[in-house]
Amino acid sequence: MTSDDIETEAGGTIDPPHQAGHVTPGTVPALMLVATPIGNLGDFSPRALAAIKAAEVVLCEDTRVTGSLLARHGVSVTLVPFHDHNEAEHTPRLIERMRGGTRFVLVSDAGMPLMSDPGYRLVRAAIEAGLTVSAVPGPNAALTALCLSGLPPHPFLFMGFLPARGGPRQAEIGKIAAMEKAGLAATLVFYEAPHRAGEALADLARGLGARQAALARELTKRFEEVVRGTLPELAARFAETPPRGEVVLVVGPPEEGSAPAADLDSMLREAMQSMSLRDAAASVAAATGLPRKAVYARALELGREG
Ligand code: SAM
Repeated sequence: MTSDDIETEAGGTIDPPHQAGHVTPGTVPALMLVATPIGNLGDFSPRALAAIKAAEVVLCEDTRVTGSLLARHGVSVTLVPFHDHNEAEHTPRLIERMRGGTRFVLVSDAGMPLMSDPGYRLVRAAIEAGLTVSAVPGPNAALTALCLSGLPPHPFLFMGFLPARGGPRQAEIGKIAAMEKAGLAATLVFYEAPHRAGEALADLARGLGARQAALARELTKRFEEVVRGTLPELAARFAETPPRGEVVLVVGPPEEGSAPAADLDSMLREAMQSMSLRDAAASVAAATGLPRKAVYARALELGREG
């Protein structure tokens, strides 16, 4: 922190950064990315509010969500819907308006825009058009979960959402396992829907092995909770009863010298040569610590593949 920052802090200014001198002097950001709370309304920063008030247009995912957040603060601004479905179509027109001098703010329903939310293409286009882009950073579920997980905070790899369907999800996890075989050793962070958390954890356990992990739910809210354990333990815990509320999954890095988890298939194949499918699944589940149900499901798939 420099003496300028301290002065700014003591003065309590909440001006957008162009006025606080954090962006090239004299430039007014054409586009400000503004973070909003991920649950706790107390996390809406004074500077976020000031940036929104100073904007001519606020781009948001759902005008009802942002409208009600702003109404609590007595702010009334022009809200324009901006989401994955219209981002590509609207971007050129928005860039033209920015060139014409209109100041935009981009928010998402919760947290930092762009983080598994729309905005990347707009930011890219604004940068390419030579426009100034700045941000009011703030709440973010991935970083909050990572810091609360008790797992190494860096290096970390933010993966966003895993595919919703089993096959593509297992393929995606397979890619991570391949990167780890090639030397990647990072803590992994995933967003997940609560009703899919159990199966995602089981797939992660099967693909990556019995390593340390955490499921963080309802961050910054009344029922905030972080459940820590190995992937098989968490998969077993949430197999029948999904976690309530919003969740983030954090998976620790592979331990040095640990056996690659992809060995599960070869263990199953070998066991299935001398045992019934059910016994093979039970014995491999016992040997690996992975949930019986998940191992049995994989044994069935292997059986079908012949
Ligand atoms: N842009 C947001 C951010 O910066 O965190 C994330 C938006 S993404 C569409 C929504 C996902 O973020 C949820 O499905 C959940 O995985 C995670 N999430 C958001 N709020 C959360 C919270 N309060 N507690 C746990 N996870 C949360």
